This record gives sequence, structure tokens and C-alpha cells, in this order.
Amino acid sequence: MQKKKLNLSVQILIGLVLGIVAGLLLQKNPEIATKYIRPLGTVFLNAIKMIIVPLVFSSLVVGVCNLNDINKLGSLGGKTFLYYMFTTLLAVSLGLVFANILNPGLGFALPTEELIVEAKEAPSFIETLVNIIPSNPLQSLVGGNMLQIIVFALVLGAGILVIGERGRALYQVFDGLAETMYKITGWIMRLAPIGVFGLMTPVVASQGMDVLQPLLKVIIAVYLASIAHMLITYSLTVRFLGRRSPLEFFKGAFPAWVTAFTTASSSGTLPVSIACAEENLKVPKPVASFVLPLGATINMDGTAIYQGVCVLFIAQVYGLDLSFAQQITVVLTATLASIGTAGVPGAGLIMLSMVLHSVGLPLEGIALVAGIDRILDMMRTSVNVLGDISASVIVSRGVDVQQQE
Ligand code: ASP
Repeated sequence: MQKKKLNLSVQILIGLVLGIVAGLLLQKNPEIATKYIRPLGTVFLNAIKMIIVPLVFSSLVVGVCNLNDINKLGSLGGKTFLYYMFTTLLAVSLGLVFANILNPGLGFALPTEELIVEAKEAPSFIETLVNIIPSNPLQSLVGGNMLQIIVFALVLGAGILVIGERGRALYQVFDGLAETMYKITGWIMRLAPIGVFGLMTPVVASQGMDVLQPLLKVIIAVYLASIAHMLITYSLTVRFLGRRSPLEFFKGAFPAWVTAFTTASSSGTLPVSIACAEENLKVPKPVASFVLPLGATINMDGTAIYQGVCVLFIAQVYGLDLSFAQQITVVLTATLASIGTAGVPGAGLIMLSMVLHSVGLPLEGIALVAGIDRILDMMRTSVNVLGDISASVIVSRGVDVQQQE
């Protein structure tokens, strides 16, 4: 079993490398990559998306039922939320530190032509909070609104738990659905090496050096801060809070990491994250099915790092100095903004407007980084997903969960 898993990771890595090579070879004809190779990635992505809603919904309902005690849900929720907040605050700070050292905006010439920005207005924090409660849960399921789905699943699971014997049949339905979805995830993951190849090639083929060159320092700052956060913060938390080997953690989470890197979507990676946590890292099912869907929706450490770097970059480009107090404001608003960021490609770019607004920076600055968003998104999503998996490992320590049957 273990050997098979390792093989799949190696295969995915080969898909990634081949995708980069093919992308480089096709840089003169990116339309070939988009037209003929991208569909391989789209098939993989669609297959993952196909199972997200039933998987999250059923596994969360079953997860709550398996806690057998409403108090356990409370303490699990509290620990998870604390860890998510703490690591996100640390992540923005790290982004700011790297940006302060590398000064990505110094010497950057503002394009002379007027910048056309179609930055959408980010929803306000209160609006986000109010919208968490679904007025029509079936609509949330159909529309794939993750936060609302989570709330409904938690309430439904709690209800089934409380009515006891009479809820047993319903529990079994969800349990069967969840198990079926896990099985299908395994099948879809066999397509991952080809899917990763199909997603990677067009990205590399269409991102020429002329787009990347002027913003190289922003890319370096985001990548370095992200690597530091993954290697240092998560190694330490996994080691000291989770009492697990960091090496084992990175190895076990690898398939989810690559899927996140190539799809740039935490929600899309969720089935893979759940499989990695349960099968490779032996996280108990009730913990994985609670912590991971929640994390894929609200815990975005990579997005927070990116926002820290980009705010400082935009301030520097416009020749504005951010005071220490303003940088603290950035830490706080970026944490909130990252919670409100959806786990889909490009969502962090939209939420950047909220952080820029909080320190009075021009929203037009978003246009400066929009061209390289995909490259940054791949890395920030990888961090987002690793953060979620690290939480599942840590929270599972000492949790005693009895299965209902
Ligand atoms: N793409 C990221 C994710 O899915 C969110 C973002 O754009 O920052 O996790």
C-alpha cells in the first residue's frame, strides 16, 4: 500500500516536470498548449470538482456524528480555529518581513499609460459573516457555497447526534455516501500525473520572461516567504504541537501539495487533502473531515503572505512609506481578508483590494500584480493547503474519537 502511494507521488512529480519542460518548449506557440494540452488538465479538474460538494457535505455530517458528544465538537473547533488564526497572523508578518528586506517596489517604473483596473469590490467582513448562515441550504449545495455547506452540515450532524437511535438510518446514508466519495477520490487521483501535466504546460507556455522580469522581486519575495513558512513554521508546529516527524508530514502531504500548486484552488484540492491526511498521515476520519473542509474555506496562510508582500510592493511603487502602525493594520486586515478569500483561483487578488483600502493605498495597484497572479497563486495555494493538513495532524493529537459503530 505504502509503496503504491509513493509511486503515485513520483508519477505526479514526473507529470509536473514534464509539464514545465513542455511549457518551455511551447513558449513560441502557447496556443498549442492551451488548445491541445490544457483539456487533459480540465478533465482532471472537473473530475475533482464533481465530488467536492457530496464529499464535503457527507464527510462533515459523519464527522460530527462520530464525535459522539457535542462538547468534543466545541473543543475541536476551538483548537482548530486558534491554530488557523495564529499561523495566519504569523504568515502575513513573514510576508512583510521578506518584503521589507527585498524591497520589491524600489526601482520599479510605474507604467506611463493609464492603468485600467477591473478590480471587483471585496465583500465587507460583516457581509461575509451574515452570509455564513444559508437561508436555503439546497441552493448552497447546488451553488457550491462552501462556508454555507459547512454550517448546514455541522447543524445537521449535531441534530442526528442528539436524536440518537432514530437518526441512525440517516447516519448510515451519509456514511455510505462519504465512503463512496473516498473511493472515487482514489480513482481520480490515478489521473493526477496526466492532469498535473495538462495544467502545468499552458501556464509555463504563456508566462514569458517579459511578463515576469519586472516583477521578479515580488515573485521571489512571495516564494521565499512561503517556503520559509512551510519549512519552518509547519515543521515546528508539526514537531512540537503534533509530536510528529516533519519529514513524514511533508512526504504524506506531497500529492496534495502538487495538486494545490497546479490547480491553484484549495477547494479543488480538498478531496486529495482528505485522502493524504487519512491514509498517509493517519489522521482520524472525524478530525480530517472537520478540520480540512473548514481550512480549505477559511485558512489561507499563503494568501496572507502574498497580501503582505503585495501591499508593501504597491506602497513602494507609489512612493509611499508604510509606518509601523500601518503595517500592523496590514497584518490584521490581511488576516481577515484571507479568511474571507474563497478557495478558488484568483480569489486572493480580489481580496487584496480590502487590504489596500485599509491603509489608503490606490486600488489601481492591483493591476500591477494581476499579470503574474497565476504564478503567485500556485505558491500561495500550496501553502494554504499544507497549513490545513498541518492543522489536521496537530488537532488529531490526543483526540479520542469513538466511531459510532
Ligand atoms: N487560490 C487560492 C486558494 O484556492 C486563494 C487565493 O487566490 O489566494 O487557496
